[in-house]
Amino acid sequence: MGKIKKEEIIEILSKYDKKDITIATLGSHTALHILNGAKQEGFRTAVVCEPGKEKPYERFGVADEFIFVDKYRDIVNEDIQKQLRDMNAIVVPHGSFVAYAGLDNVEDKFNVPMFGNRDVLRWEAERDKERKMITEAGIRMPYKYDDPEKIDKEVMVKFPGARGGQGYFICSSYEEFQEKIEEMKARNWIDDNDVKDAHIEEYVCGTNFCIHYFYSVLNDEVEVLGMDSRYETNIDGIVRIPAQDQIAANLSPSYVVSGNHPVVIRESLLPQVFDNGDRLVEKAKELVKPGMNGPFCLQCLCNDDRELVIFEMSARIDGGTNTFMNGSAYSYLKFGEPMSMGRRICREIKNAINDDKLEDIIT
Ligand code: ADP
Repeated sequence: MGKIKKEEIIEILSKYDKKDITIATLGSHTALHILNGAKQEGFRTAVVCEPGKEKPYERFGVADEFIFVDKYRDIVNEDIQKQLRDMNAIVVPHGSFVAYAGLDNVEDKFNVPMFGNRDVLRWEAERDKERKMITEAGIRMPYKYDDPEKIDKEVMVKFPGARGGQGYFICSSYEEFQEKIEEMKARNWIDDNDVKDAHIEEYVCGTNFCIHYFYSVLNDEVEVLGMDSRYETNIDGIVRIPAQDQIAANLSPSYVVSGNHPVVIRESLLPQVFDNGDRLVEKAKELVKPGMNGPFCLQCLCNDDRELVIFEMSARIDGGTNTFMNGSAYSYLKFGEPMSMGRRICREIKNAINDDKLEDIIT
């Protein structure tokens, strides 16, 4: 089975009644403000849920239709796809949608029009591709070590797979690296294959900003819509323990996001923020046409030199956008009305329908 072609999606879209579009997504991640934003922009909404998971969408009144599946991954089943197409659905992909459906299925099987650029999703999923895009854009990333024996200062060691930072560790020499690896193997947290694929990067000591951008293909403009910082279990608990007690407690840090704080950045750093967004959008256009097409996020640490170092990107709506369901300081400056990322996506879809340009923003 090959990748779904844009022509197939355009064919499906040509049969849609453009005056009766439904905005649909999976009931998780950022579905609340995607659906709420869709309603604000005048669309009908649908949410795909496992039984029991529909409660937030029901209680906050954001969904007109509920489509139930036994398991979230069943969203790619043919009968569910047909239900979506029958309601003229445009699906907004978010992190949980991609994780549950599976990237291969999204690329090869999910024959429903989606907002954005399907092909860019792989660029955030694979560490090498992600690094290529960001560094070729001329954006600073943490230095990557290709050999643990070369560790000469604090590094963070990350393992493959979505572990939410479980088992990531910090060390500052080869000896310490080996010690910690042995400890983790003894706990059965990792095996030899994981060690082979361990990703070692410079530890950036700084403050965290996750910057939420929207690239409008229709306006050819990069917007900064909001920023958050992460509230992570259990590292944010560990740092509340005084140093001596931390040593006695001997806890291993994990970095599982459990919440987000809205944040604003020092104003003099904003030129760097826009510059990074502009550069990434230009590089993405080159590497994976038509590029970012919609929301994306750069996760940064601001170091002592007031340099934004990017350690990760999301090439779709990021969970931290939940901090500005009613707008952020930045979306207020740009729009002067409540503007969530979900609403911004739906505004783009509405504008594209009005200008007969839906094909440009659908994949
Ligand atoms: P995951 O992909 O599992 O979420 P991340 O790469 O986002 O993992 O890292 C998890 C957390 O670890 C981040 O939120 C950040 O706090 C911290 N982190 C990641 N990379 C670095 C780095 N190079 N230096 C310092 N802290 C980092």
